[in-house]
Amino acid sequence: MPAPLRAVVVGGGIAGVSAATVLAERGASVTLIEREPVLGGRISAWTEHLPDGTAFQMERGFHAFFRQYYNLRSLLARIHPAGHLLTPLSDYPLLGPGGARESIAGLPHQTPLNVLALLARSRSVRLRDLLRVDFHRGLQMLAFDGERTYRALDGQSARAFLDGLRLPPTARRMLFDVFAHSFFNPEDEMSAAELLAMFHFYFLGNPEGLLFDVLSEPFSVALWEPFERRLEALGARVLVRTEATRVLPGAGGWEVHLGGDRAPLPADAVVLAVTVPALRAIVASSPVIGDAAWRARVDRLAVTRPFVVWRLWLDRPTAPGRHPFAGTAGFGPLENVSLFHLFQNECRRWAERTRGSVVELHAYAVPPGIDEAALRADMLAGMHALCPELSGARVLHERWLWRQDCPAFAPGSSAERPGVETPSPGVVVAGDFVRLPFPAALMERAASSGILAANTLLARSGVESEPLRSVPRRGLLAGMIPGT
Ligand SMILES: Cc1cc2nc3c(=O)[nH]c(=O)nc-3n(C[C@H](O)[C@H](O)[C@H](O)COP(=O)(O)OP(=O)(O)OC[C@H]3O[C@@H](n4cnc5c(N)ncnc54)[C@H](O)[C@@H]3O)c2cc1C
Repeated sequence: MPAPLRAVVVGGGIAGVSAATVLAERGASVTLIEREPVLGGRISAWTEHLPDGTAFQMERGFHAFFRQYYNLRSLLARIHPAGHLLTPLSDYPLLGPGGARESIAGLPHQTPLNVLALLARSRSVRLRDLLRVDFHRGLQMLAFDGERTYRALDGQSARAFLDGLRLPPTARRMLFDVFAHSFFNPEDEMSAAELLAMFHFYFLGNPEGLLFDVLSEPFSVALWEPFERRLEALGARVLVRTEATRVLPGAGGWEVHLGGDRAPLPADAVVLAVTVPALRAIVASSPVIGDAAWRARVDRLAVTRPFVVWRLWLDRPTAPGRHPFAGTAGFGPLENVSLFHLFQNECRRWAERTRGSVVELHAYAVPPGIDEAALRADMLAGMHALCPELSGARVLHERWLWRQDCPAFAPGSSAERPGVETPSPGVVVAGDFVRLPFPAALMERAASSGILAANTLLARSGVESEPLRSVPRRGLLAGMIPGT
C-alpha cells in the first residue's frame, strides 16, 4: 500500500470474507462487519442442542463445492494450505420415480464428448426422442457467449427455452429440471440466458465436469473459525452482531453508519457484500451513493421465492450403498436428499452412537400460499420413496428452515444487473447476484465478485490485483449458431 487504506467490508458471507481477505493481505486496514452472530451468511453454521443435550452445528443447508470453483478454492487454500478440507463424492446421481436414475460419474470431461456420452447411456432418452428435439436450441446450449447469449435469450424464460427443446417429459425432468432448479428460481421466472450460462459453467464449458466435493466438518469449524483467525492475524477487525444501516460522506471519503447507538466507522473504501434486500435498504438510506440510474437498478433487484431446508435426526440407519447426496425429480417439491451421516463427521458420530441417520431434505422455489403441513408431508413422502428403509422411522429431532434470501434472475434482468463497480469512487458491491465479466454461479460467483471488488479498490491505490480464473468465457460453438 503506497498510502494507508481504511476499508470497511459490510457482510460476512463468502463475498465479504473474500474481499476482506484480499484487502487485508495487501495491507489495507480492514473492518469486516456482519449483522448476525456468526460469519458465513447463507453458508453459516451455529450451535444448537439435540433433545438429549448433545451440542451440534446447525447449518443453512448442504453445499456442493464444484471443482471449477477456482477462485473460491484459491481462498480456501489460505486456511487449509494442505488442501485436505474437501472430500470428493464419487457421483452426483439424479433419481426419479420408479427407479429412474441418471449418473454423472465417469463422463468424459470434454464437450461434446460429455454430452454424447450422457445421451448415449441415459435411460431417459431414446434415439427416436432425439429426432424430435429442436436441434437449433440444442446447439444454442453449446454456443454460450456472454454478451451475445444474454442479448439473444435473456428476455425468454428458462421454461420457454426448455419447452422449445421438445424433450420427452422424463428426459426433460431427469436431465434438465433437476439442474435448472438448483438455482432456486422457478423455471418460468428465470432467464433462459442465465440457464445457458449455468449449463456452460457447470457442464459444457469446464474441464472438471459436474462432480463436486463436500466439507466433512461443519461450516463453522471448516471455514469460518479459520477465516476469522486468518483475518485477525492479518490485522483485520471482525465485528459480528453489527449491522450497517447507511453509507454517508465522511472525512477522507465515507462513513459507514451502524445500527444501535454505535459510532460510525470512517472509511476510504466500502465493500457492500450483503444480500439483495439489505443492499436495497442500505442504498435507499444512503442518498449520495451512486447516481439515479444505478440506484434505480439496485432498487429493481429482487429475491426469488422461498426455499426450505429440513434436517431430520432419525432412529434408524439408511440402507447400505446409499449415496451421500442425490438430486431428485418427480417427487413433488423435493429437490434433493443429503445423508449427512455418510459424509459429515459430527453427524456420522451421532449416527454411530445411536444407530440412526441424519437426513436433509431441500425444497426450492416454494409457491406462494403453500400449506406447510402439506409441504412437509410431500417432502417426507419423497424421502420414503427414495429410501423405503426410512418409512416408519421415528423423528428424534428436526430443524425446519424457511428462508427467502436467494437472488432472482428474472427474464430481462441481466442488462440492468449491477456489476462490482458503482458510480461512487471507493464504493463497490459484491455477492452472488452481481454481474461478472465471466461465467460463474452461486458460491463461486460470490467469491469471484468479492475478489473483483477488492481488486477494483486496489487498482485505485495502484496495488497489484489478486489473480482471478474462470472457465472459458465462450462455448464450443460460440458465434457459429444464429440467434445466440
Ligand atoms: C439451501 C441452499 C443451498 C445452497 N447450495 C449451494 C451449493 O451446493 N453450491 C453453491 O455453490 N452454492 C449453494 N448455495 C448458494 C450459496 O450459499 C450462496 O451463493 C453464497 O453463500 C452467497 O454468498 P454471499 O456472500 O453472496 O451472500 P450471503 O451469504 O447472503 O452473505 C451476505 C451477508 O451479509 C450480511 N448482512 C446483510 N445485511 C447486513 C447489514 N446491513 N450489515 C451487516 N451485514 C449484513 C448477512 O447476514 C450475510 O451474512 C446454496 C444456498 C442455499 C440457500
